[in-house]
Amino acid sequence: MSMLSISDLRGGVADTDILHGINLNVDAGEVHAIMGPNGAGKSTLSAVLMGRPGYYVSGGTVTLDGADILAMPTWQRAAAGLHLVMQYPSEVPGVSIQSVLIEALQRRGRDDDDVDALLATEAERIGFAPAFLARSLNVDMSGGEKKRNETLQLAVLQPKVAILDELDSGLDIDALRDCARRVEDLSNEGMGVVAITHYSRLLEELRPDHIHILVKGRIVASGGPELADVLERDGYAAFTGGDAGDEDASSDDASSSLDDLFRM
Ligand code: ADP
Ligand code: MG
Repeated sequence: MSMLSISDLRGGVADTDILHGINLNVDAGEVHAIMGPNGAGKSTLSAVLMGRPGYYVSGGTVTLDGADILAMPTWQRAAAGLHLVMQYPSEVPGVSIQSVLIEALQRRGRDDDDVDALLATEAERIGFAPAFLARSLNVDMSGGEKKRNETLQLAVLQPKVAILDELDSGLDIDALRDCARRVEDLSNEGMGVVAITHYSRLLEELRPDHIHILVKGRIVASGGPELADVLERDGYAAFTGGDAGDEDASSDDASSSLDDLFRM
């Protein structure tokens, strides 16, 4: 049985059906890339998996090591080992990453970890200035700093499966390399990865075992890393029947609010 098992998952946001039967199995240490044009439903998939308020499931199952993820509130999904790196990390004034991680480790029964030492080691490894550790989460940070911050959380918490929603968006090339390499290392230590991305440049550092093409809420093709080369050469046209998707979709979730994150 796969670690993360998604079967015929259907759902959407508000009153719009967006996912039309997603099947995906992620085993320990595997990196699955989900690629697709704007508006394909990539962020919706990550939101539905994590139980973001406003999103609904109308069919299918999702299990993590056999446990029914869809029956759990968001915090419990996280405690069970599912972790989402959001496309646009939220700013949390007055709360430091240090305090967030201490709480999160306690929830996971890892109170005994030397959090300070762990944070210092991981911050250095990801090229994240230690001064940020005591500052408000993501407040006044550049895109690259936010994603280094998110990657650091991943490295400290060591979830079973990480979902990365466009880890590469808003990142300069150095930060992209640092973050992708850290995730690659974590996957080599057994973490499963679902890497959602629009472009193949992330996959030059984070080597996928499998690539899936998501178009209009369905996985229309799956294959090995060579699929990224096909996309690089031909774009999404070969998979969309000439319709490259909704390039104008205002599908980004920049409007996510604190309220939204901490409900449930
Ligand atoms: P992707 O991440 O692949 O670019 P999204 O999952 O963000 O795509 O969006 C999929 C579709 O859902 C798009 O057509 C988008 O316009 C629509 N959508 C996103 N948010 C909402 C919403 N709150 N209400 C209705 N439709 C939405
Ligand atoms: Mg998206």
